[in-house]
Amino acid sequence: MKYKTDEVRLQQNEESRKRYHWYKDHHICVKCGQAEAVPNRTKCDVCLEKDRNLHRENWNNVRDVRNIYAKNRRVRNKNKGMCAKCGAKPLWGNSTSMCYDCMIVQRNATRRWREPRELKWREAGLCVRCGGERKPGFMVCRKCYDILYKQLDYARTCISEETILRKKEWVSLHYFNKPLRYRECRP
Ligand SMILES: [Zn+2]
Ligand SMILES: [Zn+2]
Ligand SMILES: [Zn+2]
Repeated sequence: MKYKTDEVRLQQNEESRKRYHWYKDHHICVKCGQAEAVPNRTKCDVCLEKDRNLHRENWNNVRDVRNIYAKNRRVRNKNKGMCAKCGAKPLWGNSTSMCYDCMIVQRNATRRWREPRELKWREAGLCVRCGGERKPGFMVCRKCYDILYKQLDYARTCISEETILRKKEWVSLHYFNKPLRYRECRP
C-alpha cells in the first residue's frame, strides 16, 4: 500500500515537473497556466502579486506572534523584579524596566541615532529635541522645554540631589544653551 502511494506521488511529481518546465519554456505562468509570464519570471503578474500578499500576510503574523512573546517575556521578567530586557539581572535603582547594563546599552543606542539628527537641528537653529521652532533664547521649543522641566521635577522625587544637579546642568547646557542658574530657569 505504502509502495503504491509512493509510486503515485513520484508519478505526480514527475508530471508536475514536466508541466512546470513546459509552461516555463513557453513563457506561460507556471502557477495558473493561463496568463503570460512576466519577462524573466516564471509567473504572471496576478500570481506574483498573490504570492507577495501571502508572503506579507505570513510575515505580519510572524511579527505579531514574536511581539506578543517578547512582550510576555518582558512582563514576566518585570514581575519577578528582574530586568525586562535581559531577565538576568535585577532592576537598577529606581528603574522600572531595566538593569544597569541594559540601560547603558539602550542609552548608547538611542544616542547613536539621536545625535546626527540633533546636530542638523542645532545648525539649522531649530529645537534640538524635535526640530520645531525654538523658544526665544533657548535651544528647544516651548513644548520640549516643558517636557524637560517635568522630567527634572520627576527626577527630584527619586534620585539623589547631586545626580539631579548634574542632570540639570547637562540639560541646561545641552538644551537651553546657557549654564544653570537656579530658580530663574523655571517656566
Ligand atoms: Zn498566473
Ligand atoms: Zn538587563
Ligand atoms: Zn521641541
